This record gives sequence, C-alpha cells and structure tokens, in this order.
Amino acid sequence: MPPARHQKNDPASQEQVNDDAPAPSPTAGALYVVATPLGNLSDITLRAIETLRQADLVAAEDTRVTATLLAAHGITTRMIAAHAHNEARVAERIAAEVAGGKQVALVSDAGTPGVSDPGAKIVAAVRAAGHTVIPIPGPNAAITALSASGFEGAFHFAGFLPTKTTARRETLAALVALPAHVVLYEAPHRIATLAADIAATCEDSRRVLIARELTKRFETIATVTAGELCAWVAADPNRERGELVVIIERGATPEAGAAEGERVLSLLLAELPAARAAKLAAAITGASREVLYQQALALRQQKAV
Ligand code: SAM
Repeated sequence: MPPARHQKNDPASQEQVNDDAPAPSPTAGALYVVATPLGNLSDITLRAIETLRQADLVAAEDTRVTATLLAAHGITTRMIAAHAHNEARVAERIAAEVAGGKQVALVSDAGTPGVSDPGAKIVAAVRAAGHTVIPIPGPNAAITALSASGFEGAFHFAGFLPTKTTARRETLAALVALPAHVVLYEAPHRIATLAADIAATCEDSRRVLIARELTKRFETIATVTAGELCAWVAADPNRERGELVVIIERGATPEAGAAEGERVLSLLLAELPAARAAKLAAAITGASREVLYQQALALRQQKAV
C-alpha cells in the first residue's frame, strides 16, 4: 500500500494541486521527502512515521542514524545510503525505482532533506523523469530558531558560509546589507571565528540570536548584540559545542535611519544651533550630517514664520 497521500483535486483535502506532477495512479511510484527530528525523537509527524513505515525503500543520508529513528518507531523498511558523495549516482537509481512503481522515502540525518543537506539532486532527478515528489513537512533548524527569535518580517536563509576567510567575510558583508534577517548554520568549532566576522561586519548594536542544541537537553537560545558577541562566546566553553543556528537581525533601513535622524535632530534643535544639532544627530543616528543640516535650517525657518 502506498504511503498516506491525499487525492489530488479533492476539495476536501485542502491540498494544492501540483500542476507539474503526472496524474495520480494507485500503482504510480513517488518520492516522499520526509523531515525528521533535529534531536528530540518525538519531533516527528504522524504522516512521516506512516510514510516511512509504508515506503518500499528509505534512502537515508546515514543509514546508522536513520536506523535509530526507525527502531524507535518499530519501522523495518529497507534502507539504502544516499549521501553527498553518492547522491548523483543514487539519484538515478531512485528515479528508476520510482519509475518502476516504488514508493521511496528520502531522509537526511536531521531536519528537512535538501536544506543544507543532500536531497536536491535526487528530487531533481525524480522530477526531471516526470514522477511525483511529495514533501512530508516537519523539523528544520532554521525555522525552529526563527520561531523562537522574536524577529519579525523577511528573512534570508544563507545556510553555511564559505570556510575561507576572505570569501566568508565578503559573503557576510553582502548578506548583512540585505533588508532581511540573515539565518546561518555554523559548525561549533567555527562559532568564535563567525562571531569575530559578525563583529567586524555589523554595527555594534545589531542583535544576533544564537540557538544551540535545539530540541535537545542542553538547548540554549540567547540574543546578544554584535558588539557583545565575541565576549559572549568566550565566556563559556559550552558555547563552542553542539549544533547551532545564528540569526543576524535585519539592519536599520536607510529610511528608518533617516526617520530616527530627524527625530533626534528636532529634539536637539530645541537646545542647540542648527549646525551643532545636525552634527550631533548625525553622530548619534548615523544619518547624513548634510541632509540633517538642511532639515535643521528648514525646521528653523518654519518656526520663524
Ligand atoms: N537539513 C537540516 C535542517 O533542516 O535544518 C540542516 C542540516 S545541516 C547539515 C546541519 C546544521 O543545521 C548544523 O550545523 C546546525 O547549524 C543546524 N542544526 C541542525 N540541528 C540543530 C539543532 N538541534 N540545534 C541547532 N542547530 C541545528
């Protein structure tokens, strides 16, 4: 029996129709992209368990890691390895299995396959061959960290930065200029280096969230400023251990900076001459001194009328 799957075009299922996918058939194979726990084995959906149980084959990043998950749920489905080093080759095999009517479940070690993990090549091969790909959503470290950040609005998922110093700093400089929070994955032994890079790239007041060991026993979620980050990492050796997500809060937009500049300027103008008020407001807010000076003159003129 194929794994749980809503009927396409069934209004009651509230499911979107995937126009690219071939018409469903009870005998057609499919690839199920199954999200698995980040650490806490209970963080798996009922649909994911049912899919893994009923699949003909589980393609796993590391079969030993997935064996623990399957055993925890009494699942005995056969596994094959599908990791970064054999992904292109195994993609063809999985596409052939799906073409032969098999239901294949794809999992990575933790979280959602294809997100900073193997999986994209396999999905692309199955889709290119015209077969159905069905996502079974669930845990993802980036979204889990974001949900606990309190940062609102757009975000940019960047995953792992390049490891070479120049490339990493250049990439980071471009990312932190985006009008969005930046979500990064990092290995624990590189957190001190990343902290130094963030401190060098961002204004001191920019907030940074560090989410360690999510869903696990030593889960810690902290928010510090870019200026405090290096000292925060150095203060406790545990902060260089475990898995972590770093989210750099969106910087002030030029519009927000200008609005803050004008607010501070009008306060200072009540006490100081225009040039002095503009100079101080620019130093406090980072807004343009010249623009503020022109605004100060205009405000003075309005008051005089
Ligand atoms: N596919 C996964 C997902 O959906 O999040 C990500 C896999 S990637 C190879 C592994 C990285 O994800 C880690 O280096 C870390 O940055 C992040 N990560 C995974 N599990 C985590 C956890 N429990 N707590 C914090 N970060 C985690």
